[in-house]
Amino acid sequence: MILSEQKPLEDILGYLEGEKTVFILGCNGCAQSSGSGGPVQVEEMKKKLEEAGFTVTGTKVIDFLCEKALVKSGLRGKIDQVAAADSILVMTCGIGVQAVAASVNKVCHPACNTINLGGSRGEWQGSERCNECGQCLLDYTGGICPLTACTKSLVSGACGGASEGKCEISPDHDCGWELIYNRLKAKNQLDKLSALIDALDHNKLMARPEMLDTSRYALEQSDQEVG
Ligand code: SF4
Ligand code: SF4
Repeated sequence: MILSEQKPLEDILGYLEGEKTVFILGCNGCAQSSGSGGPVQVEEMKKKLEEAGFTVTGTKVIDFLCEKALVKSGLRGKIDQVAAADSILVMTCGIGVQAVAASVNKVCHPACNTINLGGSRGEWQGSERCNECGQCLLDYTGGICPLTACTKSLVSGACGGASEGKCEISPDHDCGWELIYNRLKAKNQLDKLSALIDALDHNKLMARPEMLDTSRYALEQSDQEVG
């Protein structure tokens, strides 16, 4: 289970600044059970964005947005609605947002923050990973997570050590920031690189104190007891 919560509406409206039309994508998996991106929240978000003056070209809730094959097949009947939108607002965890951004040639905005549950970090069978930082930065990075794609988890740009697209730590590893640069360039979003991003709040990388007594936290701990 990956826990997520919606970002403040003002953050989402900030991501959408300069756009007029948007397609909303929700997730029937963890985001639905988190109450952050299921059918109910997608409908609520549609109303809020319309009240804010946006045209919502369409909505879709897919079983698992972290599964790229499901994203592609789930959007097959929505191609015109997606094409008519300036961007897609993705209401799910960091893995799901990354999977959508890698599957659809469209600007993708994250509507949620993924929260640390105290157990193993967000992983899935695809290549996307999430460190559950609680302050999702994917809007600034073309939908590629800097905490997991960069070997040193740098969040404010590349270290300068990359060589021919490979990380200075290991030639077997693509430089995460070169991937981010190339994705932003392909989506005509290089201006995102000059955005002033708040320094990472490391408190948000930890499980919140109020979560320590919950059954979800206990389940995460038991998941880690292997052997
Ligand atoms: S920036 Fe990365 S670690 Fe943070 S919530 Fe988004 S995907 Fe997860
Ligand atoms: S070379 Fe790229 S991936 Fe490697 S540590 Fe530097 S910025 Fe991160």
